[in-house]
Amino acid sequence: MFNVLRQSQKTGVATTSYPATPAEVSPRTRGRPEIDWAAWKDARPAAAVCPTGAIACIDADGRRTASLDLAKCIFCGLCADVDPAIHMTTICECAARSRAALVTHATYALKPDGAHDRLIAPPVPGQESPVFLEAVGRELKARTDKLLGRSLHIREVDAGSCNGCEIEIVGLNSPIYDAERFGVHFVASPRHADMLLVTGPVTRNMEQALRKTYDAMPGPRLVVAVGACGCSGGIFGVNYATRGAVDAVIPVDVYIPGCPPNPHALLHGILTAVGRWPDQKSS
Ligand code: SF4
Repeated sequence: MFNVLRQSQKTGVATTSYPATPAEVSPRTRGRPEIDWAAWKDARPAAAVCPTGAIACIDADGRRTASLDLAKCIFCGLCADVDPAIHMTTICECAARSRAALVTHATYALKPDGAHDRLIAPPVPGQESPVFLEAVGRELKARTDKLLGRSLHIREVDAGSCNGCEIEIVGLNSPIYDAERFGVHFVASPRHADMLLVTGPVTRNMEQALRKTYDAMPGPRLVVAVGACGCSGGIFGVNYATRGAVDAVIPVDVYIPGCPPNPHALLHGILTAVGRWPDQKSS
């Protein structure tokens, strides 16, 4: 015991102070891509190399609507390799309370060769925070605050993940990120859970288990889809073996993009879901 205490005194506090301070990430961390919409000359090369269809363009009547869907993006960087108007950031905190909020699109007039002539409708981010979801978040927060102090019980379901997201979730519970300092506990039973964290595209084998887990949770309850697969089906989409996104099976309240989302992104999404992110007003 004394050895443990002596050791921890020697090494100091390992836990990050995030989110009170900005995320400390390696400069090589690959976060979300950013597009310079005004300088974007042609969306087609990036759309052609994007493996998940996160960058897409639709041409009609001499115009092009180009879009970036963060729910589908796996942060691979292939688009930035072929297009100077796109660069990869180290920003991983992209959680949103609606699927539409993860899609940004802009409209261009086209030249005869199909390149962009000029921007005629600037980028429009999707709409965030439908009112009823805010209400669920407030209700849950009030309940957890009243009954359990500031704790939040999470049941995690791997509905078909490659386990990349699970590795990050394990990291979230490590001494570095220490989710328990926010009162966030992972529990074994859905009957004890306030929040369901779902990873993976939902495989047809796991569909019923996911529905049963959701049904077993007491209300009010929150569902958080984790990773590109959970948010959109990712590179798997819908096929003979998977149903695709989590919201194809159960209602989702918060989407956490990434492939996989790192512990900062997970913490941001979980705290956003319950209105505890520092820039959110306390409800
Ligand atoms: S980073 Fe990869 S997945 Fe994301 S938009 Fe670019 S090419 Fe597509």
